Amino acid sequence: MQRARNLGLAGGFAALMLAAVPASAQVTAIRAGRLVDPEAGTVATNQVILIEGGKFTAIGAGLAIPKGAEIIDLSNLTVLPGLVDAHNHLALTYKETPENNIYYLTYVMESTPLRAIQAVSNGIQMLASGFTIVRDMGNNANYADAALRIAIEQGWIPGPTIINSGLIIGGMGGQFWPTPEMAVDKKIVYPEYLDADTPDEIVKAVRQNALFGARVIKICVDCKPWGYSADEIRLFISEAARIGMKVEGHVQTVEGARRAIDAGIWSIAHDRGLTDELHKLMAQKGIWRAGTETPISLVGHTTRERYAATVAGLRNAWENKVPLTFSTDADYYVPGKTRGEVAIEFIETWKAAGIPNADILRAMTIGGYRVSQTETVRGPIKPGHAADLIAVPGNPLDQIDALRDVRFVMKDGTVFKRDGIMTPERFFHGGPVNGWNIR
Ligand SMILES: [Zn+2]
Repeated sequence: MQRARNLGLAGGFAALMLAAVPASAQVTAIRAGRLVDPEAGTVATNQVILIEGGKFTAIGAGLAIPKGAEIIDLSNLTVLPGLVDAHNHLALTYKETPENNIYYLTYVMESTPLRAIQAVSNGIQMLASGFTIVRDMGNNANYADAALRIAIEQGWIPGPTIINSGLIIGGMGGQFWPTPEMAVDKKIVYPEYLDADTPDEIVKAVRQNALFGARVIKICVDCKPWGYSADEIRLFISEAARIGMKVEGHVQTVEGARRAIDAGIWSIAHDRGLTDELHKLMAQKGIWRAGTETPISLVGHTTRERYAATVAGLRNAWENKVPLTFSTDADYYVPGKTRGEVAIEFIETWKAAGIPNADILRAMTIGGYRVSQTETVRGPIKPGHAADLIAVPGNPLDQIDALRDVRFVMKDGTVFKRDGIMTPERFFHGGPVNGWNIR
């Protein structure tokens, strides 16, 4: 996120666009009854939060509120920074009917434009549940994730800050076992995965994703029995680093996890390959765990045996002090629930693992900002940071389920939800108000 956005744009254009921003921005003052600092695990009372030009300018008790400021009274609520889902798929929603929850069928039945529109809806649903940052980790048709990110950043629609991966890069076939017609001739719909089997192809695939709008690189470490070697993973990491991006590995075996950790990967998605020994190595190397811990309450999306292993694995990771993120891998429809409600349901697994509320909240906030690389510009409620925050009636440090009832959401200084009702109209524009050149 710290990288320059206006790649390839002449400086004169950028200066022109800055000059077009009105000089006298409105000041907003929030009265926060309680304000949680997730990093410290503490609560401050009766705080005033000042916001101007989409950013926090000052936070403290008894701050003077400037004349003419818009005052938002959250004195009966607990205010905290926005939540992060470190692994979602906003442009993928497989269903019981007709797919029998098998996304192979979604892939051949639903177009990229349809999935992009679904992503807009899913993004809004996530924001309504308090997720102000979503890492969107592939399986998003033909770069629908990049289109979503750009549409939000340009100012067309509301949505979380998106850290997207573009196409997942794997050896030929990715996570599928394609037919030759599909894999070689590419005559069946769009490519769900980007094939890269040689060093040249690895470099080219990373650059292609960067060109088409990725903000993080996602690779299939061991989707096939041969998988990527530690040296091949190192090549991904070094090529991505040249563009300022980190690499996340989809890992499903112990040997795959070992190679990814050996190579020094940024983050590991899924928990199947992660043992006590490997957790210790991850803690030593500071490798993020995006375990995607599906709760048993989402019936049909895990099994009793798998859930027991997931809970034990999460507990073991916490005991070993592995850097933890809150991640869901949500990519399906649960009738009666929004995508945001599906995501928040994952706190059930964290509770079952006996993780203290303060540490669950840390994973959902600080851990998320760090793995997303936004923590110096967006996430913590600090002067100079983008003004994203949420508010709930209870105190999540006492009762983590308080996060199920997000009553207020602010994104970039604009109110998205108030008194439990979405008020998104100020996010919709008939043009790219933040700049057509945002890519
Ligand atoms: Zn996933």
